[in-house]
Amino acid sequence: MLDRYFWHLNGPQADGMACVVCGANFLTSKITSVPVGRSPADESQVFACKEPCAGRIADETERMARDMRALADGGGPESTDGEHAAECDDPVFCVDGHFGSLLRDLRALAGAEALLTTSDEIATIRFLLALTARHAETAMMRARLVLARTKENGEE
Ligand SMILES: [Zn+2]
Repeated sequence: MLDRYFWHLNGPQADGMACVVCGANFLTSKITSVPVGRSPADESQVFACKEPCAGRIADETERMARDMRALADGGGPESTDGEHAAECDDPVFCVDGHFGSLLRDLRALAGAEALLTTSDEIATIRFLLALTARHAETAMMRARLVLARTKENGEE
């Protein structure tokens, strides 16, 4: 399983003595526990009930990964550039193509902003920041390309 961080843990949870989801105490109850991640405070392993809490964490992680993949696919520079390169001989002059890609970058940035306000895991935040950096960079390049092209049009 992904080595994710769990925040807002109480003492027993951070010490690995209690489930990070439901708070069940593993010392006083006969629950099978499985390691599910780490405490950000000291990197120690934390645990959850094998059933159903670990399953819930896995589902949640899967859903989050799916959301982020969808977000990344929405404006990936590789996919969109390839797409437009096939349609245009000179991609610099494909203003519509770059403008459309720019809008996708901006939507990805807005999505990253929304997810950043609700995420409290280091792994997720790092992923979102990498996504932000990538889309901010391509958005800058595309905005400049569109700017350069519209200036040329104005001068003609
Ligand atoms: Zn539990």
